[in-house]
Amino acid sequence: MSRPTVAFFELASCEGCQLQVANLGEELLAILDRIDLVEFRELLTERPDGPLDIAFVEGSVVNAECEARLHAIRQRSELLIAYGSCATIGGVNAMANGRPISEIQAEVYGDQAERFAAARVRPLHQLVPVDYFIHGCPIYPDELIKVLKAALAHLPYNIPDYAVCVECLLNENVCMYEKKVTCLGPVTRAGCNAWCINNGNVCYGCRGLVSNPNRAGAEAVLSRYHLDSRLIANKMLMYNGALEPTDE
Ligand code: SF4
Ligand code: SF4
Ligand code: SF4
Repeated sequence: MSRPTVAFFELASCEGCQLQVANLGEELLAILDRIDLVEFRELLTERPDGPLDIAFVEGSVVNAECEARLHAIRQRSELLIAYGSCATIGGVNAMANGRPISEIQAEVYGDQAERFAAARVRPLHQLVPVDYFIHGCPIYPDELIKVLKAALAHLPYNIPDYAVCVECLLNENVCMYEKKVTCLGPVTRAGCNAWCINNGNVCYGCRGLVSNPNRAGAEAVLSRYHLDSRLIANKMLMYNGALEPTDE
């Protein structure tokens, strides 16, 4: 029996999520026994254009070229998996949506701005149907494997819809708020096993918000520790603050 054809693509991104896959090591070798990997810019030079069983797409749509490429990928793929925050929620790219695009273009490209087409940043599901989402910046490797297994078996993958705090407490971390440091764990969807907090950092919300974030609870925690709510608002801007357009 032939193995399913799988390809990895990148739109506007740093390709850090693709690098996470390339760095899987032995797990990647085990995966390669089960699939026919036909395109992967960081590992292969081939660029075939035939039909695909599974397309992994990283990065956001930031202009008409990305949009056309995404539609072409969707057309040739039975399943499409958006992976990484840039693809699933707009991620760091979507910070640009908080200001008029023309203003940002002028700031970056000066009098050459007209040569570089740009539009409002969009995650993939705003343009094409997406079958699976792997959140995170970069993706959490264990979750990538779970999603790939689900896709190969044509089973659903249920993204946790509870806060990172749950995983953080299961890992017995001391809460950052006890150290008077703000953290977005209470409003961010879990699934990364509280990766950043386990490694001494705070949560910046790269997996996006839980579907029903407890705003009142978050405000109560800030007030209990006498912390300024602007500290939270600033952290929100990195991944979650600018998905709504201001112009164009
Ligand atoms: S989600 Fe993060 S690591 Fe992945 S491509 Fe985007 S910026 Fe890079
Ligand atoms: S607020 Fe941050 S550090 Fe505290 S429990 Fe939640 S995720 Fe962990
Ligand atoms: S702890 Fe927060 S910022 Fe870190 S990977 Fe998990 S969701 Fe992303």
